[in-house]
Amino acid sequence: MHRRIILLTLGLLAMFRPQAQVIVTDTLAAEPLAPADSLPPIPDSAVFIEKTGEIPAIRHYGTDWNNTNTRAAYSFDQSRTYVLPLDSAHFVFPAQAGAVISPYGPRSGRMHTGTDYKQKLGDPIYAAWDGVVRMAKNGYYGYGNIVVIRHANGLETYYAHLSKVMVRPNQKVKAGDQIGTAGRTGRATTEHLHFETRFLYQSFNSATIIDYASRRLATDTLMVVKGKFYTVEAYRQRSSTATLNIPITEAVESDSLLSSLQDSLSVPLAKPLPPVKQITTARPSVHVVRSGDTLYGIARRYHTTVAKLCQINHIKEDGILSLGQKIKLP
Ligand SMILES: [Zn+2]
Repeated sequence: MHRRIILLTLGLLAMFRPQAQVIVTDTLAAEPLAPADSLPPIPDSAVFIEKTGEIPAIRHYGTDWNNTNTRAAYSFDQSRTYVLPLDSAHFVFPAQAGAVISPYGPRSGRMHTGTDYKQKLGDPIYAAWDGVVRMAKNGYYGYGNIVVIRHANGLETYYAHLSKVMVRPNQKVKAGDQIGTAGRTGRATTEHLHFETRFLYQSFNSATIIDYASRRLATDTLMVVKGKFYTVEAYRQRSSTATLNIPITEAVESDSLLSSLQDSLSVPLAKPLPPVKQITTARPSVHVVRSGDTLYGIARRYHTTVAKLCQINHIKEDGILSLGQKIKLP
């Protein structure tokens, strides 16, 4: 009797064991997920951490840094809210002109964890933001030759199927630095860039934040709420016209950002939101506050600081922005 119960229990456990966490690249190859405790520290990484102290986004990853596997422990916490400022002033689209040939999402019953962007053999591939190369590896499963860069805000970007990798692990890169050339290594049926955006190893659709048509960022702030990824604009739109009061527990760059985000998030939405704003390079003398704006975001956009904006506008960092308010720009 007991034996039967035990067998039944084992059977149930086997049934409900979480499915092996695999990700799938272009021809549906599976990549094994390395358990955290099976990844011994790599001497180079250890030296890197010790010597430079320059691991990006330690607040999210701790010292979880390795040069051998795309993912380590699965540390994405679905109960938390994260506000990730995107460095919109320094974003560079990672490839030359091309076209999306396969978007992020389910494909043939599997999950395609990146966006495929058609390229010609040898086209240059660029780092999308400043960061540090976490992986630069040839022949990595279905990815082929791959570069993974970790950025200060906690995002990681993956560049796969490269014909040539031109950076080394632990190397610091700037947005726009060439990191390799496009190809079709690994499991790929044509030359293209397989581009992934991840946060805490969780992939999300890069088209959430990148407008592939204009090859520009679509927002300056990414919200991660209950495991889902939104632009801050989309998140506000989704959250009714009532004032928003979201718990911001993580991932703010500074206290002033936190207060400006909290304040701006409680601006009542009086009318439908304008279309997702484009990052412009034009430099007007005033900025008219729209729904979704934060002092921090405005400062970023116009390459200035929150303190400077406060000074010339005689406002406080923790003041509430109102829709239509004119913010003088330096
Ligand atoms: Zn792909």
